[in-house]
Amino acid sequence: MLSRRQFLLGAGAGMATAVYSPRLAHSRGAGATQTIVLTATAMHLGQYLYLPFEVPGEVNRIDISVTKQGDAITGVGLFDQRGAGYQSAGFRGIYGEERSQLFVAADSASQAFIPGVIQPGTWTVIIPVFRATVPTVVTVTVVLTFGAQPAAFEYGAPPDVVLDEPGWYRGDLHCHTPESSDAWSSDSALTPTAWADTARRLGLDFLAMTDHNVISQNFDLGRAAGSDVLLMAGEEMTNWFHGHATVTGIDVGDWLDWRQTPIGLPLPSGEPGARIQRFLAEAREMGAFVAAAHPLGLHLSWQFLADGDLDPLARPDSFEVWTGPFQPDDEAALLMWDERLRRGWRVWANGGTDLHGVENTNGFAAGTPTTVVYADQLSKTAIVRALKAGRCFVTRLPDGVELYLRAEGPGGQRQIVGGTIFGAPTDTVDVEVLVRRASGMRVLLLVDGVPISVTVIDAEEQRITVTLPIGVGGYVRVEARGVPEVDPTNPIAGRTDMEAFTNPIFFAVGPIPDDAAPVDGPPASGGPRRPAGAPSPGPGAAAGPGAGSGSGGRLPATGGAPTLAPAAALAALAAATAAVARTGRCVHHVGSDHGPHDHDHHDGAGHHGP
Ligand SMILES: [Zn+2]
Repeated sequence: MLSRRQFLLGAGAGMATAVYSPRLAHSRGAGATQTIVLTATAMHLGQYLYLPFEVPGEVNRIDISVTKQGDAITGVGLFDQRGAGYQSAGFRGIYGEERSQLFVAADSASQAFIPGVIQPGTWTVIIPVFRATVPTVVTVTVVLTFGAQPAAFEYGAPPDVVLDEPGWYRGDLHCHTPESSDAWSSDSALTPTAWADTARRLGLDFLAMTDHNVISQNFDLGRAAGSDVLLMAGEEMTNWFHGHATVTGIDVGDWLDWRQTPIGLPLPSGEPGARIQRFLAEAREMGAFVAAAHPLGLHLSWQFLADGDLDPLARPDSFEVWTGPFQPDDEAALLMWDERLRRGWRVWANGGTDLHGVENTNGFAAGTPTTVVYADQLSKTAIVRALKAGRCFVTRLPDGVELYLRAEGPGGQRQIVGGTIFGAPTDTVDVEVLVRRASGMRVLLLVDGVPISVTVIDAEEQRITVTLPIGVGGYVRVEARGVPEVDPTNPIAGRTDMEAFTNPIFFAVGPIPDDAAPVDGPPASGGPRRPAGAPSPGPGAAAGPGAGSGSGGRLPATGGAPTLAPAAALAALAAATAAVARTGRCVHHVGSDHGPHDHDHHDGAGHHGP
């Protein structure tokens, strides 16, 4: 960890200068103030300016405001006397570009900042520079107020076990509140309480509160959640320059730093960047599930893929393959995920709404998409454990398409999504997917990312089965595709035809592990546990079999066959044929228990090749 002095030297090397000019107040009686003016020069994107200042004893409130002369776009954050080093316990909060005034005190603080007793010592303002085309003088005015410390703020209790029974639980792993300054600026961000109310309305069971680099949204989640929704403490690690990651299931008060660089390259200010491995290790130490957010989202993309190629410890638990409306960058993320899976990464996929405000014109909405997780109970521990085991699928709406994938292999092995079936290359695996609420859509089974069958669904509930060899190992997963939706007047709100996809079941050559207990996805009740708009069942209430009443995502019952289907099916089958030839994998049988639309596909090429 760097000392403050090294930081200052680093800041100097980065062409920033901190001018320390205290102006002492005349007295230090209660309510007296002392003003300190600090300046630094923002030179270019990617800089962190560090402006230390001394806090004497008996200060009970610190106010900070930032002004600029120039075009630089910056944020502002604060570290207390415990230091400004990476992952410092002294982190007190940070804003993006939208806000420039804050305070902290023992019993309260600005949104996004952490209250706590003001201790004397060297505190540090951090200014991240998001843009600077000309050198910009940044002036930070610090006002210290003297007086007795009020009683310190205390965290509320987080939600406990909400429902103690196994089931498929629906939720969102990427929720912003007004504690994120960009969400705050939307004027329509949902607070944790409003998120819980929204969950009740939509039939969602759990939500992770993932604000940008801050943790104040987590301070009172038990009260905000009520008794029937699981709100999980979280953070969106927002490395403004190299990618974001949602962190789900930390404890209240836990915080994760964002100052990493790909391959640990130096930060523009000269200090070495932290490695992404360190962030991931610390998040896991906190018991959290980590997903690279919108991994191919242009300037928001995850730039630590090369780190992960070099070191498995640099891979997140999951990729948020589906962010908000499924768009071309999500399709690209899906391809990237398949490509990493083929290379042997064991990284899952999940969804996240990334909703910053309910009033938006980019097609973002609560519940779009919904991540459906099979967990032993509705609690933070169980949801995180299930996510880390890959036991989930993602669907466009809370009452959207359901895809329950399971497999049965040699020796009585039974697995659901996230599981692995072991055996010899010539052993076979019976794979089944139970499809619900997908009438008129196409369901694709993919092996190693390549479609091997396309089934047009003609029933409310339908099973598709296929028998596959273990072969050289690999994985099977499922997608449901409907029709794209494009608004010519607003292209950014459009979406592709993705309706749902599952995590994979892996095949591996080798003996069945002694501890491989069969995993059976329980019969899903169909639809959200709590149908949209229904009264809350309350804690401990049995999950009813009620299917939601919405028709989300489904095509019209008549004339709904997408015109793209035949061409897409042919293209998929052609690709599958090529894949079979390439991978040596043979599909023994593809079947469906409904309708005339089965697409059996046999290909003897390269049967059970190495
Ligand atoms: Zn976000």
